[in-house]
Amino acid sequence: MSLRNVIAIDGPAASGKSTIAQKVADRLGGIYISTGNMYRAITLFLMKNKLNLDSDIDPDQVNSILKKLSLSYTKDSNGKLNLMTNGKAVDSEIRSPDVARHVSKIAAMANVRAWLIEKQRELASLGLVVMEGRDIGTIIFPDAKYKFFLTASPEVRARRRLAQTGETIEGSTVASVAREIAARDEMDSKRKVAPLKKADDAIFIDSSEMTIDEVVNQIVSSIK
Ligand code: C5P
Repeated sequence: MSLRNVIAIDGPAASGKSTIAQKVADRLGGIYISTGNMYRAITLFLMKNKLNLDSDIDPDQVNSILKKLSLSYTKDSNGKLNLMTNGKAVDSEIRSPDVARHVSKIAAMANVRAWLIEKQRELASLGLVVMEGRDIGTIIFPDAKYKFFLTASPEVRARRRLAQTGETIEGSTVASVAREIAARDEMDSKRKVAPLKKADDAIFIDSSEMTIDEVVNQIVSSIK
């Protein structure tokens, strides 16, 4: 069986997945979903619950904090999904450098991924879904008919990330952002559970020398 209503876009940090996935969803009348934001929302919730993410993390402690968390979505008037934590819409805090610094450690935990997997799969019932992350084509929807793996050179990705306000600390340089991105990619690709990996049947796109519209056109035309 191949899931025809799911478009899976995976790739490393700052590869342009969110921008591209959002535009592909707009072009096709689908719903855009960032799974990275779910991991970020969990990380922020753990931080707010005073879990020290700089030392070894006890999975049982994480489980007991997750019992207090409800992640849900509401649809706004434009049909866009808004991620909610305990009934409150997430804000730019989930994109902060502090959350970015810790999120890969949390996303590597098997219990955290197990907590999310069904929630992510259920979203396919919403209709045409464009979902981006690290394991969408490999683990969440291995049967998705449309799969893409998006990347760009480390320097291009660092420049793009630096251009996004609020996502890097003051005084960041292309080199320092490239190092932060590389560290996150390394953790995401080397973890045991659901590592960042191109699905064998995903179309590989290197967007280093492409405009956003060129990437969106390539994805949309290969779907049509
Ligand atoms: O996509 P974004 O950069 O917001 O993702 C933040 C982090 O969430 C990633 O670096 C990764 O550790 C984790 N993630 C994941 N699996 C996904 C999506 C994100 O492990 N499907």
